[in-house]
Amino acid sequence: MRLMIVEDDALLGDALAQGLRQLGHVVDWFRSGDQAGAALASAPFDAVVLDLGLPGNDGMVWLRRWRQAGVKTPLLVLTARDGIEQRVAGLDAGADDYLVKPITIDELAARLRALLRRTAGHAQSVWQHGALEYDPASKTVRWRGAPVELTGRELALLEAFLTESHRVLSKAYLLEKLYDWSGAEPEGNSLEVHIHHLRRKIDPAIVRTVRGVGYALGSDEAVR
Ligand code: CA
Repeated sequence: MRLMIVEDDALLGDALAQGLRQLGHVVDWFRSGDQAGAALASAPFDAVVLDLGLPGNDGMVWLRRWRQAGVKTPLLVLTARDGIEQRVAGLDAGADDYLVKPITIDELAARLRALLRRTAGHAQSVWQHGALEYDPASKTVRWRGAPVELTGRELALLEAFLTESHRVLSKAYLLEKLYDWSGAEPEGNSLEVHIHHLRRKIDPAIVRTVRGVGYALGSDEAVR
């Protein structure tokens, strides 16, 4: 998942970013709502973790503003306020879930997986597509029942295709799913290399090339 964290607390923000990266996610961390809002408009984040206690505008103000602007990205609110009123207000303002601090990475990751599963329209915790099975919790992939060893980037790429299984995804969009903004620019042909590896390790039909547009997941009939 490509995730956005909005948290002004340096220790907590760093712990969340590192913890979620260790679980294989691509993470960008922002300390203020205005930076986060600009980023939301320019990259395809799968989910946002938003702290409510931010300096300047409260997280709730940003949440309302983003929803009014049409941002549909799933959003989980982090709050230190253990009042039922704040939770209800957060959900009414367009949050999809909330967690009360202190939180653990494991619980946060599980809640984010649940949000992604809903977005992707998968009913089960293990995602099925033709003869392919993907478990986002354990990051395991099976093809016709046999385990497939994928690298972190290959897993992230496969997850992006399985999340939007009916769409053609452009190269630029897929690269945004694979790389956060903190590291080096990806190599020019890195996407093609990862796609080549997915086809070799799983099946040539797992990813379809749509000439001049990008790539799409092979239809489930094609990957049985
Ligand atoms: Ca805070």
